[in-house]
Amino acid sequence: MSKREEPLPVTTPAESFDHRHDHEMCVADALHAAEIICAQRGARLTDLRRRVLELVWDSHAPIGAYELIDKLAKARTEDGTESRVAPPTVYRTLDFLIAQGLVHRIESRNAFVGCARPELPHRGYFLICETCGVAHELEGGALDADLRSRARDLDFEVRRITIEMAGRCPACQAATGAPA
Ligand SMILES: [Zn+2]
Ligand SMILES: [Zn+2]
Ligand SMILES: [Zn+2]
Repeated sequence: MSKREEPLPVTTPAESFDHRHDHEMCVADALHAAEIICAQRGARLTDLRRRVLELVWDSHAPIGAYELIDKLAKARTEDGTESRVAPPTVYRTLDFLIAQGLVHRIESRNAFVGCARPELPHRGYFLICETCGVAHELEGGALDADLRSRARDLDFEVRRITIEMAGRCPACQAATGAPA
């Protein structure tokens, strides 16, 4: 295993499951981290990239591309920035944010969610609440290494690992009562 592929510690703030946390802090932290990371890598965090990242971070629930395009159009009208951004431009912007590790794609929903620990490359493993939609990122750690070694034993060339667990977050359990 090359250095680059080693699983890295990822700790998403547990607040993502707390429906009343100070989300403005999450957004501010995410934008701040994005600025630092892009500056370090010589990648340009353009106004559009920053705006899209901010919209993805609107909540901890993954957002679909169409919804994102709509929100972006609204935001830009309010800004007086300009009219609609062409969808391919939005997709390219998302590709950039994903490549920089600032955003993860939730495969099962074809949606996007901000990463709270983008400093180091890692794979996102997610707990996804089916009630409120919040996606909470888990550390891959030993699981990642184990899956890779099993695949290697079978001479399987892994291109992508997607692990998503669907269920109910603590706040939604508290709101609706324990499962019968
Ligand atoms: Zn938050
Ligand atoms: Zn992440
Ligand atoms: Zn929930």
